Amino acid sequence: MLFDTHVHLNADQFEEDLEETIQRARQAGVTYMTVVGFDRKTIPKALEIAESDENIYAAVGWHPVDAIDMTEEDLAWIEELTSHPKVVALGEMGLDYHWDKSPADVQKEVFRKQIRLAKKVLMPIIIHNREATEDIVQILKEENAAEVGGIMHCYSGPVETARECIDMNFLISLGGPVTFKNAKLPKEVAKAVDLKHMLVETDCPFLAPHPNRGKRNEPAYVKLVAEQVAELKGISYEEVSRVTTENALSFFGISHS
Ligand SMILES: [Zn+2]
Ligand SMILES: [Zn+2]
Repeated sequence: MLFDTHVHLNADQFEEDLEETIQRARQAGVTYMTVVGFDRKTIPKALEIAESDENIYAAVGWHPVDAIDMTEEDLAWIEELTSHPKVVALGEMGLDYHWDKSPADVQKEVFRKQIRLAKKVLMPIIIHNREATEDIVQILKEENAAEVGGIMHCYSGPVETARECIDMNFLISLGGPVTFKNAKLPKEVAKAVDLKHMLVETDCPFLAPHPNRGKRNEPAYVKLVAEQVAELKGISYEEVSRVTTENALSFFGISHS
């Protein structure tokens, strides 16, 4: 049993074969998924998919790349959606210094607003971080995000920072890059971080794990991530899949039979 904690089945790339993609995931043992919506277009689609399947959940937030587009109405809309029965987290939110569509100060403000909302509605957050590790950790501390906790999605930072995040009630989610030959940090994190603080994800359609690197990613491939974590830790695949699934279920507050 696996829980892919970060999927974008709501992306255009799955328009043609969403049903088949979900079926392939189930065949690979992926029972649960969280579809992440991050703007006006992908949020309704995430909810629609979550509503259509008992074991698919949704997260809603505003992506840092598009921070400049977020209005007060958007934030109020996201707040409203937190009472939707299938919404289990706020995000993805954070900082992305790779793209320059939204200036850093705007990104920071939109990030802070969403953390404050999470604390208001008592919902955990999902963090997107690209080339902004230091600023993210600083903001999480300043805003006391530990009150709600969250997920460092597709974590690719150093072990040190992972520990700081764990101390703030965050889980470390590893994705496709842990399988890349040259990905030194994710492999170190996979070895060093206790499994009880770990999740697995695909972030599909992006970041497909080896040997599918460069192709469209999909939830079925989260198995390759879990297998790699097991190999690096020197433990069984069954243990990795069981513990990371339990971590995700308890993090998202999902009770299952
Ligand atoms: Zn992301
Ligand atoms: Zn994402």
